[in-house]
Amino acid sequence: MKEQTLILIKPDAISKRLSGIIIDRLEHLGLDIKAAKVAVVTPELAKEHYANLAGTPFLEGVVSFMMGNANGIEDHRIYAFVFEGQDAIAKVRAEIGATNPLKALPHTIRGAFGSYNEKLDIMENCVHASGSIEDAKREIAIWFKAEEIVK
Ligand code: ADP
Repeated sequence: MKEQTLILIKPDAISKRLSGIIIDRLEHLGLDIKAAKVAVVTPELAKEHYANLAGTPFLEGVVSFMMGNANGIEDHRIYAFVFEGQDAIAKVRAEIGATNPLKALPHTIRGAFGSYNEKLDIMENCVHASGSIEDAKREIAIWFKAEEIVK
């Protein structure tokens, strides 16, 4: 089925200058970029995006990480995309690998480029990708206006 998925290139990947490699690997899955932007992450935006983490002890660390505080991204930017294609959600999730970079297979994006920040106790896992069709719909609406997405 043709699907859309939300991709966020996170601050650790931006500081490591990995944005091009990540876009390259996702594009090579045969997917099309339908929307792209540089977005400024506020605490409100990060909490809305990670609504599933509400009440967990690591939400605060994740919000701070997404704002770039662990990686010296002082303007708080991340890069957001809508990728579209056949089975896009599962294809992208397989390519990015497990949430914890220490458990992600070595050939995946998180396995190859992610790390665990022991000092701050946060996973620096390079990229977010929607986990289901429902999540994708909700997340795309958080980061993009309908008119910013090519039909
Ligand atoms: P994914 O990003 O693979 O969809 P989740 O939605 O479960 O995974 O988690 C969102 C983000 O929250 C992760 O990418 C990671 O940065 C952080 N996170 C998730 N679980 C933990 C955990 N147990 N400890 C610390 N951070 C976590």
